[in-house]
Amino acid sequence: MIAEIPVDLEHECNPWLAAEARFNRAADKLGLDDGMRKVLKAPAREVTVSIPVMLDDGRLEVFTGYRVQHSIARGPAKGGIRYAPDVTIDEVRALASWMTWKCAVANIPYGGGKGGVICDPTVLSMGELERITRRYTAAIVDFIGPEVDVPAPDMNTNEQTMAWIMDTYSMHHRQTVTAVVTGKPLNLGGSRGRPEATGRGCLISTLEALKKLGIGPTDARVVIQGFGNVGGMAAKLMTKVGFKVIAVIEWDGAVYNPKGLDVLALMQHRKETGSIVDFSGGENIDREEAMFLECEVLLPAAKENVLTSLNAHRVRCKILCEGANGPTTAPADDILADKGVFVLPDILANGGGVTVSYFEWVQDRQGFFWNEDLVNTRLEEIMVNSFHDVTSYSESHKVDNRTAAYMLALDRVAFAIKLRGIYA
Ligand code: NAD
Repeated sequence: MIAEIPVDLEHECNPWLAAEARFNRAADKLGLDDGMRKVLKAPAREVTVSIPVMLDDGRLEVFTGYRVQHSIARGPAKGGIRYAPDVTIDEVRALASWMTWKCAVANIPYGGGKGGVICDPTVLSMGELERITRRYTAAIVDFIGPEVDVPAPDMNTNEQTMAWIMDTYSMHHRQTVTAVVTGKPLNLGGSRGRPEATGRGCLISTLEALKKLGIGPTDARVVIQGFGNVGGMAAKLMTKVGFKVIAVIEWDGAVYNPKGLDVLALMQHRKETGSIVDFSGGENIDREEAMFLECEVLLPAAKENVLTSLNAHRVRCKILCEGANGPTTAPADDILADKGVFVLPDILANGGGVTVSYFEWVQDRQGFFWNEDLVNTRLEEIMVNSFHDVTSYSESHKVDNRTAAYMLALDRVAFAIKLRGIYA
């Protein structure tokens, strides 16, 4: 009898190992030589900084911050900054490489980067957060800039954080430099359409997938996990074009209506009660049960590692649209492929956010701002092109969509490195 291999979820869910598994599979398929693999894998620069901050009660505390620039081969590094108690350099490094591949799939002129500060924002005052942000920015001021590395919001950072970073950077440079970060408030150089961009990108790629599978939008039943920026916006935009959002799953419960939920009313209900539970336009159901309902589109838009080797066999969707980053582990990929699920991998599906961030940077550098229609038209063009680039690659190389997206990305970055040559 063959002994059963124990499922090591901790290993399976490690972001760096997950990134490496996808990288290796794509590099093998491309037949990349060892030297190029080494160059593509190695982060271009990693900075660790100490952030001394005076707390409100007069104590002096020292926080640790990171900024990793994984690649600058195709342009400035680009990626968010997260504040969380469990931030690690491994995680930041993995997320930075993810950004390199995402920007390459969208074919926008960026590399990839990510930053993080180890802190617990739930116990910090606004004043403390501002001082952490400004001192962190001062510590990395020589390593960021519109032509160097352009941060953006991520977990627990927002428009206000970006405004503080922009101001601190500008004070050091003795001039206002709005293009140093994206995700800024609209009246400080932000872009129209940015809050909806990731959800809109999910809608656009899902529409293309439905077309490919011969399913009409009005026949599309959607299950969404996470009703925040990405999931909420996607739900709103999807219902507008006729999809039926039959279930929404949050951390504290799930609601279901086989005829389709009234998404705007559900948003209002959550605003009033603080939860999606007990919504009069649907019934409460078990969160696990909701996740594995039969549907055309499953849209995880909450967090990473929700589909693993333990549960991927229960998925009953035709299309998996990865709104979140890393919702599927590498072993779960094979299970989904065996089931014939059409996967829109995160580095394709949620690329709408970084694409409109790119538009924000372009507008800031031009000092000329676009209306929302123009932003949305240009976003659609990029998302549709990326979808077709990935699916053509998948068909011509006979690989699944995720492997195709990684192959395309690695190929584009490797090509840039070859053209530039290795400076010595
Ligand atoms: P958000 O905080 O606005 O929304 C996340 C939602 O998920 C919240 O409503 C939260 O309550 C819910 N949630 C948390 N844990 C959950 C659980 N266990 N089950 C169900 N729901 C849960 O965050 P967001 O900006 O929408 O980001 C969601 C995901 O999308 C993240 O993985 C993020 O990295 C990724 N992403 C976001 C963007 C963007 O532009 N916002 C771009 C690319 C990728």
